[in-house]
Amino acid sequence: MLNLVLFGPPGAGKGTQSERIRDHYGLIHLSTGDIFRANIKGETELGKEAKSYIDKGELVPDSLTIKLLESEVDKHQDANGFIFDGFPRTVHQAEALDKFLARKQTEVTKMVALEVEEEELIKRLLARGKESGRADDQNEGIIRNRIEEYQKKTAPLKDYYRNQDKFESIDGVGEIDEITNRLYHAIEKK
Ligand code: AMP
Repeated sequence: MLNLVLFGPPGAGKGTQSERIRDHYGLIHLSTGDIFRANIKGETELGKEAKSYIDKGELVPDSLTIKLLESEVDKHQDANGFIFDGFPRTVHQAEALDKFLARKQTEVTKMVALEVEEEELIKRLLARGKESGRADDQNEGIIRNRIEEYQKKTAPLKDYYRNQDKFESIDGVGEIDEITNRLYHAIEKK
């Protein structure tokens, strides 16, 4: 199986690039953010609980997020592999993912980080918020909080995967096609 983690701060382009990677390698794309938003739209219990955190730009608690991710993976027993987009976001989530995949006799193949500097992220997110109407993309204070959560809780995962020799990092600024090619190159690097 090819199991990829696409990593980067909010606004780095994970969603767009994940769809391309999904199509290119025939993977299942799992975005915890998309799943939470679908649950909020459907007014499920999970959606109601997640919304209170998402609206503030905070991470949803690990217990809820891990359970959700595992149940989504289990829906795709015949998958060739997965592209995880926006998960894991904490060391605890990464450890849970490793244990969960090990039980399935597989593992994370590689984690690729998209690097984009903060002012560019804020510009991109505010532009996306205008287009999509996503509430957490429309308020600069919430956006800054999301980036802060990323720096504090998620960025340490680079070392987690570096220690496993699975970490790659690429420049996330440029033409979309160019970034996709950088990603393919990083994914296929031996
Ligand atoms: P995203 O679409 O990936 O930017 O996620 C939107 C929001 O959903 C984040 O700001 C978090 O509040 C929540 N979220 C998504 N994925 C996770 C995760 N793996 N752990 C905790 N919260 C998450």
